[in-house]
Amino acid sequence: MPANLKLRPRMRSLLSPAVTQAEWVGIIAWVGMLLIPAALKLDFYMLAVTVGLLIVCRVHATTTNFLLWRVLGVTYMVLLSVGFAYLIHMHAELRIYGLPLAVTLVVGSAILFISVQDYLADALLIWLILWPPMQADIYAGTEVYLLLFCAASVSIGFILSYSYLKNLRSVLLVESEFRALAETDYLTSILNRRAFMQSFEKLLGGERGGYFIMLDIDSFKEKNDLYGHDVGDKILRAMALCLKNAKGSHSFGRIGGEEFGVLLQGDDVEVACDYALDLLQAIRSSVPAPHHYTCSAGMARFSPGDELSAVLKMADKNLYGAKRNGKDCVHLDGALLQAVLS
Ligand code: GH3
Ligand code: MG
Ligand code: MG
Repeated sequence: MPANLKLRPRMRSLLSPAVTQAEWVGIIAWVGMLLIPAALKLDFYMLAVTVGLLIVCRVHATTTNFLLWRVLGVTYMVLLSVGFAYLIHMHAELRIYGLPLAVTLVVGSAILFISVQDYLADALLIWLILWPPMQADIYAGTEVYLLLFCAASVSIGFILSYSYLKNLRSVLLVESEFRALAETDYLTSILNRRAFMQSFEKLLGGERGGYFIMLDIDSFKEKNDLYGHDVGDKILRAMALCLKNAKGSHSFGRIGGEEFGVLLQGDDVEVACDYALDLLQAIRSSVPAPHHYTCSAGMARFSPGDELSAVLKMADKNLYGAKRNGKDCVHLDGALLQAVLS
């Protein structure tokens, strides 16, 4: 997905509070106009606009559908403009306010849209709606100034919208790059310990249990000493690739020097055991001799609400058991996995 599109949900969540507040200001201004005695002649259309504005504002603030959110932004401005145009049409003495109203709406809404196209559609519709009620005697012979106001307000709004969105995008892009860097292990490009533990905490706070697998490469120091750190690093990257290729995990990461963690969601012990055994098999053949390596694993079952440290301790205990049992195997509940399954 292009980076721009990826940023849109985040841009939306940043813009949303300001949009809601601005919409409430619009509603208050609208109701205020209705309550000014000279204009007070409530009719069906005015009530319909009021109810419409309230509904659009509410749905706009709560919808999770991105396209609907964009459409409702323009819809709100159209509805507000239609309301004001109607009011001005019904009360000739209000015509003088048409021009400042249109300029305020067009310039004021410049930074409330997520794309320049949405903003331009909004600005164009506001002017189209408010232009006819402005065609009054007060501007007779000087309509060219109205055109100037129209062009100037849309241009200023366009510049505001364009530069605001461009700056917001570049700031968010840098932020997301830093976030990815902060969560990624430099050598293997998978989650680092901090990000993996965060994912684990989140899972423990959820509604489903699962299994945690703690993996540790066997006799890794020996590989380093025998073949050099470069080969050691190659083995670590190969191990990460095995984790990426093993389908069915919730998340995985490098949690120490040559230690990795995998989270499996779901209570089915057979599925979890098959995953662990298949993974160890893939690891055995992931690097050709003489740099081939093996891995030991300790598994622990977890339920929602469990303490992270307790689950880690249990997996560590099982990993220790697997190492003592001769390495290249998996332990669960203090026994070899094959024994647990049988
Ligand atoms: P065991 O089978 O008991 O786990 O033995 P081991 O040799 O794997 O364990 P030990 O804790 O003795 O050694 C771990 C080694 O991992 C020591 C350290 O130099 C190496 N190591 C840690 N991080 C890296 C790394 O990023 N790259 C390389 N090449 N080696 C690393
Ligand atoms: Mg270790
Ligand atoms: Mg080791």
